[in-house]
Amino acid sequence: MAHMEKIKLGISACLLGENVRYNGVHKLSSFLKDALGKHVQYVPVCPEVECGLGVPRESMRLEGNPDSPRLITSHTKQDMTELMLNWARKRLAQLKKEDICGFIFKSDSPSCGIKRVKVYNEKCMPVDAGVGIFAKFFMKHFPFLPVEDEESLHDLGLRKNFIDIKSYVGHDKIHLDNHLFAVLRNFTIERIR
Ligand code: SF4
Repeated sequence: MAHMEKIKLGISACLLGENVRYNGVHKLSSFLKDALGKHVQYVPVCPEVECGLGVPRESMRLEGNPDSPRLITSHTKQDMTELMLNWARKRLAQLKKEDICGFIFKSDSPSCGIKRVKVYNEKCMPVDAGVGIFAKFFMKHFPFLPVEDEESLHDLGLRKNFIDIKSYVGHDKIHLDNHLFAVLRNFTIERIR
């Protein structure tokens, strides 16, 4: 059988079942790991672990201005923003070399969330208006790469036909970039839960 090159996708590592969350557990998505995973090659990234924070670790949250929030540990109030950004600069250079076609991020995370992440003001009132520190940095540096979070992909259901992603392999890269997540979104599928 001819070798078929798989599409490379970045993904938040906890979605593949890696025990990298602050509390030492994962957020496995079987849909992403097993179903979609047959057709793509994942490049797992956990910003919080890779930037040097251990497992388990203190939980963190976004604080301050929703447009430019800081990444702050929930109890001891240490500011981890620069630690993460310094790591992210190097990691993004590696990801560029990997030639990934998109990224699937974990929703609601102060590091990985791509939309509506809680940001707390000085009165500890959250607004659902932030973007995770790594996700924001990623999107700024790869403005043309499609990004999605697992919630959106799950909500659209499990795609019976997403095997058709294979038919995109071999098309030119820009075509692929533009259409990959459109393909994921548009097929009709059963819901997972
Ligand atoms: Fe790591 Fe992101 Fe998952 Fe948090 S959401 S555990 S930072 S991969």
